[in-house]
Parts: sequence; structure tokens; C-alpha cells
Amino acid sequence: MSRQKTLLVTGGSRGIGAATVRLAAQRGWRVAFSFASNRSAAEAVVQQVEKGGGEAFAIQANVGDEADITALFETVDRRFGALDGLVNNAGVVDMKARLADASSARLERMFRVNVIGSILCAREAVRRMSTAHGGKGGAIVNLSSVAATLGSAGEYVDYAASKGAIDTFTVGLAREVATEDVRVNAVRPGMIDTEIHASGGQPDRLERLRGLIPMRREGRAEEIAAAVLWLLSDEASYTTGALLDVSGGR
Ligand code: NAP
Repeated sequence: MSRQKTLLVTGGSRGIGAATVRLAAQRGWRVAFSFASNRSAAEAVVQQVEKGGGEAFAIQANVGDEADITALFETVDRRFGALDGLVNNAGVVDMKARLADASSARLERMFRVNVIGSILCAREAVRRMSTAHGGKGGAIVNLSSVAATLGSAGEYVDYAASKGAIDTFTVGLAREVATEDVRVNAVRPGMIDTEIHASGGQPDRLERLRGLIPMRREGRAEEIAAAVLWLLSDEASYTTGALLDVSGGR
């Protein structure tokens, strides 16, 4: 029987990350996932996975902090050994605002978590998975957003720009490690029913903007998780540098 593969999902306690942890465990991955502060949500995800006969392990780590990221990967090394996949999911929005009203602290947090955090996590994964570094290969999936193409004018252009950076990073890293048995792809969700909208001060965002979605409905976190799991799988063996829109046509 082949070795059970290990996946690390950042921000796996809620929303798209939690759905990804649950689906990955159902598909036979051993899953480590990080959370920022919501320990009870993280524990609930571990329990859901264990109830289904899977294995999941939650680790508190702020992806906006390099020391936390290093400690996160070292914990996964100790607990599981080789790493086979990374889902760079942890991400933040902020209050709806025009750029004229944005502080530099807001911009720094947005880029530190969404961009630098994801890039540092990818670096740690490449150091472990790339055959050029003695690894056995693997796959990275970055959570971007259709905001990268739409720009989020009047709402959060800084968030959209951070996801644009993720798209460019995905294409570049994919090409950089293409011969080292590491595939790198991104999923660009549209409007998905998670708590991220309320965390940006817009609990009614989906209701208000649903009419802009060609399919006239928001997506479910599970519909994003399915795309992530496909990109991680051997079925996507020739797919790298892809930016996959999962957005109901938006
Ligand atoms: P969410 O429901 O707000 O969940 C965010 C998750 O990330 C939580 O597990 C949270 O941990 C964790 N997290 C937040 N900041 C973190 C940090 N600094 N360090 C470590 N973990 C952190 O978000 P979501 O809607 O599932 O979004 C997931 C990803 O998809 C994000 O990258 C987002 O930009 C992207 N996306 C979402 C949508 C959408 O409509 N929902 C659309 C496009 C793209 P705690 O539970 O501890 O807070």
C-alpha cells in the first residue's frame, strides 16, 4: 500500500480552509492545519474529521509572522515527516473603504498576511517537497480571488491587489519549480458563503451582491474545496501555473 500523504492547510479552522481540511481527510490525506486565534472552531474541525475516521491536527500560527510559520512547518515535520501538499488558504479582508481613506497599517496587514505569509509558506513547502532539495515532490494550491481580475473598486482595492500578487506569484513559482516535481496552482473563488464578509463589516454582502453573479447564487466552501482537492490530486498531474476561477461565472 502506498504511503499516506500529508497536507498542510493554512487557516483551516473556518470557511474554505475548514471545508478543504474535511474533504482532504475524506480523500485519505493526513491533514495538519493552522488557525490564527479561534481554537474552538479548530477543535470542532478536528472532531468532525476524526468522526469520519480521518486524521487532522490543528496548530495555532499567525501567517503574518515568520517565526510562527517556521514553527508551524517544524511541528508538521515532527508530527508527520514528509510534506506532500500545501494549501495557502489563510487570508484577510478589511472594512469596505475607498483607497483615499486607507491607512498604511491596513495595507501592511493585508499584504503581510495575504501575500508575504503565503509566499513564506510556499518557500517552506518548496524546501521540503522539491526534488532539488531532496524532497519527493508535491503540490501547492494558493487561494486567490476573482477580485484579482475585478479590482474591488470602492470596496477593497488593496485586497484585490494582494490577490493579484498571488496570481503572479503562482505563475512564477510554478515555472521555477516545474522540473522539481512540484506543481503550483491557484483557485480564484467568487463570492462564497463564509464568515469573511462579516469580518470585513459586511454581513449582508452576499445578499446585496448576489445579483451580480451570472449563476445568481453564492458558492459554498465545499465547492471551492473540491477544486483545491482536484489541483492537489494526480488527476491534475499536467496542470501547473493555472488560475482556476470557481465563481459561478463572475
Ligand atoms: P474565513 O471564513 O474568514 O476564514 C479565514 C481562516 O483563515 C480562518 O481559519 C482563520 O483562523 C484563518 N486566518 C485568518 N487570518 C490568519 C492569520 N493571520 N494567520 C493564520 N490564519 C489566519 O475566510 P474564507 O472566506 O474561508 O477565505 C479563505 C481564503 O479564500 C482567503 O484567502 C480569502 O481571501 C479567499 N477567498 C474567499 C472568498 C469568499 O467569498 N469567502 C472569495 C475569494 C477568495 P481563525 O479561525 O483562527 O480566525
